[in-house]
Amino acid sequence: MTRTLTLLGATGSIGASTLDLVRRNPADWQVEALTANCSARELAGLAVEFGARLAVVGDESCLAELREALAGTGIEAAGGRRALCEAAARPVDLTVAAIVGCAGLGPVMAAIERGGTIALANKEALVSAGEVMTAAVARHGATLLPTDSEHNAIFQCLAGNDLDDVARITLTASGGPLRTWPRERLAKATPAEAVAHPNWSMGAKISVDSATMMNKGLEFIEAHHLFPVGLDRLRIVVHPQSVIHSMVEYRDRSTLAQLGPSDMRVPIASCLAWPRRMETPLEPLDLAAIGELTFFAPDEVRFPATRLAREAIEAGGSAPAILNAANEVAVAAFLAGHIPFTRITALVEEALQRSNDAPRPSSLEEVLGVDQAARRHASSLLETFAIV
Ligand code: NDP
Repeated sequence: MTRTLTLLGATGSIGASTLDLVRRNPADWQVEALTANCSARELAGLAVEFGARLAVVGDESCLAELREALAGTGIEAAGGRRALCEAAARPVDLTVAAIVGCAGLGPVMAAIERGGTIALANKEALVSAGEVMTAAVARHGATLLPTDSEHNAIFQCLAGNDLDDVARITLTASGGPLRTWPRERLAKATPAEAVAHPNWSMGAKISVDSATMMNKGLEFIEAHHLFPVGLDRLRIVVHPQSVIHSMVEYRDRSTLAQLGPSDMRVPIASCLAWPRRMETPLEPLDLAAIGELTFFAPDEVRFPATRLAREAIEAGGSAPAILNAANEVAVAAFLAGHIPFTRITALVEEALQRSNDAPRPSSLEEVLGVDQAARRHASSLLETFAIV
């Protein structure tokens, strides 16, 4: 049966993986809307290829280019923040939320408010708006399918079980490309070194987050909202091979783990086919060739991000939104060569010191207000510590 699909963030890494699976199963999907920020030509090409009804750029200044590229195709074009939310609010069977950063929050909330089923890759949205978003999911009868590989693994390990029987959820972390670097060398890491992930091919922002371990910090907060077992039952373990994507231990000491290739098409396929399964073009996992699976405790001295995330979620209120906003500002500054690698988490820590002053957000507008204020504050901290 053909199902309708909207893909937010179609021109990114998750977008490409999603469309690769859709391309292999064209009879299964009718694409309603595809979105990007400003990759107008690429978006137009995808909209034509997949027969989308609507293409939207978040950056309104790129709309003219999108319109020109779609001229004569009959595909509707739109631009701007509001247009992204309107696209996400159109009724479809599945929305894949793969915009990077808190910029995805408004569209995700629009999809939730129409009671849709959302495959959520956009972790920053859930980190920033955790309680507001989960309350909206319950109020509107929406369904969140965790697409992040770790949360998708946990989701799979929880199937048929009761959260009350969970003793512990363990998120695995690859440790990123700089996992073995000493602190002094970390300070000199370049953007190219930080994005060179050993196992996963991803967008630049999440690749830097993996290198700082902030990705795991964000995922810790994400897991807290998706699987409310209590913070004391959430753990992180470093597992450099990225074969086990996460684990759930039950109170009888039985541990279920999900294993698979380090390719986002596996968790995306799990969401596209949910509650069933579908083929992917990936090779079977060859454990004998992999040979060895190793595990380490996280080193929060060299990589303080997971500590900061834990402190932010313990503090609650606006702290997770501030952590996320400051991290987005710091990662962009690092990628632009404006601050050293180790400044990223230092800046987040400084930004968090203000979290007590910020009001507890209880609506989407308030979360966005906290996000904007935290960005301004983090940017002012940047000026103090810029290296250029
Ligand atoms: P990319 O940077 O590759 O792609 C981001 C997408 O979002 C692009 O389509 C981009 O459009 C669009 N976008 C960027 N900024 C905005 C904005 N301000 N408004 C609207 N659209 C915008 O990111 P990834 O695909 O790597 O990651 C997407 C999300 O999925 C992130 O939240 C990430 O943490 C999460 N995730 C990613 C994984 C991966 O393997 N990549 C794994 C697990 C989670 P444009 O091309 O025009 O800039």
